[in-house]
Amino acid sequence: PPDVEELGRSTWTLLHSITASYPEKPSPELQTDTRSFLNTFAKLYPCWWCAKDFQKYIQEERHAPRLSSRDEFGKWMCEAHNAVNVKLGKKEFDCSKWEERWRTGWKD
Ligand code: FAD
Repeated sequence: PPDVEELGRSTWTLLHSITASYPEKPSPELQTDTRSFLNTFAKLYPCWWCAKDFQKYIQEERHAPRLSSRDEFGKWMCEAHNAVNVKLGKKEFDCSKWEERWRTGWKD
């Protein structure tokens, strides 16, 4: 099976990159497709215990994916990643900086 850490790093790169290229004003159709993508992703992620917890997370009312704009989606993904960071005893990431990390590049 793929290495859970390497798989995780690659997958977070993909997921945050998807939020970074998400439109500022997504159509209702794109929001529906994105919701389906996340639900299917959560079923297929090839680390079964990770997938199980992620499915549970996105199914909770208060953690439902926020897809109405790039910034909402980017912040939602950052919070979802932070939930995994907390579970693993890692430091939480400052979600006000998600776009600097994943879209525009760090300001020096
Ligand atoms: P990663 O957590 O992979 O992060 C990569 C980079 O993203 C970091 O270097 C940082 O620059 C940036 N970053 C960190 N936090 C955030 C954030 N909140 N928002 C934006 N950017 C951020 N592993 C397990 O052992 N058990 C699990 O149950 C588990 N569940 C997972 C569920 C999902 C959906 C995914 C995608 C991964 C899961 N993983 C799990 C893997 C785990 O999250 C890490 O990817 C792995 O441990 C490697 O961690 P890392 O410290 O290298 O950085």
